[in-house]
Amino acid sequence: MTTTLAEVLSVLEEFYPADSAQSWDRVGLVTGDPAQPVTRIHFAVDPTLAVIDEARKGGADLLITHHPLLLRGVHSLATTTAKGAAVTSLIVSDIALFCAHTNADSADPGVNTALAAACGLTETQPLTISEGSPLGLVGDLPQSLRLSDFAAALAGNLPTTAGGIRVAGPFDAPVRRIAVLGGSGDSLFDAVRASAADVYVTADLRHHPASEAREEARGGAPYLIDAGHWATESLWLAHARDRLLAALSERGVDPTRLETHISAVRTDPWDFVVGAQPLGGTREG
Ligand SMILES: [Zn+2]
Repeated sequence: MTTTLAEVLSVLEEFYPADSAQSWDRVGLVTGDPAQPVTRIHFAVDPTLAVIDEARKGGADLLITHHPLLLRGVHSLATTTAKGAAVTSLIVSDIALFCAHTNADSADPGVNTALAAACGLTETQPLTISEGSPLGLVGDLPQSLRLSDFAAALAGNLPTTAGGIRVAGPFDAPVRRIAVLGGSGDSLFDAVRASAADVYVTADLRHHPASEAREEARGGAPYLIDAGHWATESLWLAHARDRLLAALSERGVDPTRLETHISAVRTDPWDFVVGAQPLGGTREG
């Protein structure tokens, strides 16, 4: 018996309830017909044209992404814009698109539990609550590590990107309490300070919020790790796939009838860096 999109959606909506998303967010089904059959599911962080093309070539009929395709209003779905080309390609290829964004961030397990696990945290609690949903996590490592060793271990657990991981703080500083927020995190510094975290692992840290946070810390904790937006969120994909397959099989869906694929497209927008200071360089350089 073929699995329908509606059956898959009922599991996804249980894992990632739409009403746990932030009010500005746009989550859920973007294209597709709940009655359509699903045999191949493709997972990616971003519904870029390259990802949609990859899904189409792989014969996917459902694409599950973290980031929404249509967060802001569009006036045309013509292929003359990238958004229009994406929607057109999904529809003509019969690919349903489902997005779980801030509702997957706050889910347990979800995007941040996957990132917390990559940091070596086993027990965590919410970093803060926003609109009634938990945002970010904080927990303690089993033992204290040097900031540089912690960052290196984290880098080993994250997919490689052109930019790598940027760290603000002394190389040898001991760290144990870790706050995490996958994706853009520079709005949560107050919560990070309140949590008494030694390190804040997040991404998209802009100059002013980051340097002001370092000034506020007077060179001490919380130290900052900018591990890249795509990298910090991509670990969720394998977790979501495993959990979805387990739940579907509990509901009587034969898992061998479903193929799943995690996108090999690195949708981090950066391709290379030049001129980075080698490890061990000084600020005075
Ligand atoms: Zn994100």
